[in-house]
Amino acid sequence: MERNDYMKVKGEKMDLFYTSTRNANERVTASQAILQGLAGDGGLFVPEYIPKLEMPLEQLEGMNYQETAYQVMKLFFTDFSEDELRYCIGSAYDGKFDTLEIAPLREAGGVHYLELFHGSTIAFKDMALSILPHLMITSARKNHVTNDIVILTATSGDTGKAALAGFAKVPGTKIIVFYPKDGVSPIQQKQMVTQEGDNTFVVGIDGNFDEAQTGVKEMFADSVLAEEMQAKGHQFSSANSINIGRLVPQIVYYVYAYAKMLDRGELKNGEPMNVVVPTGNFGNILAACYAKAMGLPIHKLICASNENKVLYDFFKSGTYDRNREFILTSSPSMDILISSNLERLIYLTAGEDADANRGFMEHLSRKGSYQITEEMRAKLSDFYGNYATQEETASVIKSLYEKEDYVLDPHTAVAACVYEKYRKETGDTTKTVIASTASPYKFTRSVMTAIDGSYDEMDDFALVDELEKLSKVKVPKAIQEIRTAPVLHKTVCQVEDMPKVVKEYLKL
Ligand SMILES: *Cc1c(COP(=O)(O)O)cnc(C)c1O
Repeated sequence: MERNDYMKVKGEKMDLFYTSTRNANERVTASQAILQGLAGDGGLFVPEYIPKLEMPLEQLEGMNYQETAYQVMKLFFTDFSEDELRYCIGSAYDGKFDTLEIAPLREAGGVHYLELFHGSTIAFKDMALSILPHLMITSARKNHVTNDIVILTATSGDTGKAALAGFAKVPGTKIIVFYPKDGVSPIQQKQMVTQEGDNTFVVGIDGNFDEAQTGVKEMFADSVLAEEMQAKGHQFSSANSINIGRLVPQIVYYVYAYAKMLDRGELKNGEPMNVVVPTGNFGNILAACYAKAMGLPIHKLICASNENKVLYDFFKSGTYDRNREFILTSSPSMDILISSNLERLIYLTAGEDADANRGFMEHLSRKGSYQITEEMRAKLSDFYGNYATQEETASVIKSLYEKEDYVLDPHTAVAACVYEKYRKETGDTTKTVIASTASPYKFTRSVMTAIDGSYDEMDDFALVDELEKLSKVKVPKAIQEIRTAPVLHKTVCQVEDMPKVVKEYLKL
């Protein structure tokens, strides 16, 4: 196995291996975990331990995003050489972002918004999906894989476009995206169906995100399908946040945010900060949890949900129960009842016991619920969960705009609203960073009607122009591009026909 230069200097350092949350005998390298996406037993890959930040925080203070990314990622991806990692980072965080800072911090109303939406598809998914294709191609090369990599992805709206943008026209890859055809915003849909690139395939399904995600997971677990794929020189991988190659790049911006808070004198070295994350599949907030485990001074991890408040109920009661009505809300990327990445937290709180975790997950797939033990609950005290209704979300958008001249997208507004509730309940004055996960331009109708109901009469692109006037933020390139772009993807299918569509596309 290759070892990077850093390893050679510090010979005592061991490579970090990855195991499955459902099988303690699984042991793969980082690059193998990235390539596979999901473990063979249906579990998620997790590092055998969470490495500690080596660099003192004050040293991170002056670093740019790319350098911070290297300092974090090298600790997790130990089988990548320094050159490989720096190449992946440099190819990801470049001019595709409309700001040199990559993830700027903006203060408004006494909190700091970490703007994670300056990439090519204007949602935070770009933070990880602009690097994942490079990590994956590098991983394929390192492992002498000659098959085409077929990325199979379910999306609640933002992952799909970010993954399409990342993988489009990348040699040796194909990407297939399934989205709930009535469950995404008009702009999100237009972004996906106008995607160029011969290796891209976008399919609307007659169902919700959870059904899309379950359908994709079933295809991953289908060994007959895997053989048919292999015979034709294909293999699946995942661009969903279950892929460790997405989770690790998301840790970077929490470290970066802390360093920026130090740099601005908002925090003293070692002083904790709170993090608020609008949550769906639990990937983004889990990255913050990993950052804390690495030694980043984080006090509370505040988990914000919309009306699909399965996580709020979980943190309150210790019971995860997806048996409830699925609600389509103004924050569609959080309309999720099965938060896949929670499995990694369950695994941690179960004392990294794969058998115990597998028991919970089997219960979830059979009964739609599970209940954790009191001992496990006690380990969740770093988390605070709450939720915001659509009315509360709209009123936060309106009031922040009126008071601070700052326009939030509905997902970030859910987080802002939950943070207000947290402040009221606890009186905690710890400095706080809110993960701002999308540009308001992606959800113009919800945003504009929150500010003034009469906007509802205008069409989506007229609203874009109104938002520009009102927010004084230039219309992003991602929106300009789709105004006139032709629709290239028209396939729609039933949930049960997802494998058939995949086979047709791959000519199996
Ligand atoms: C995906 C997404 C979320 C939820 O993030 P998870 O990692 O799935 O919890 C929140 N907001 C926006 C805008 C998103 O695209």
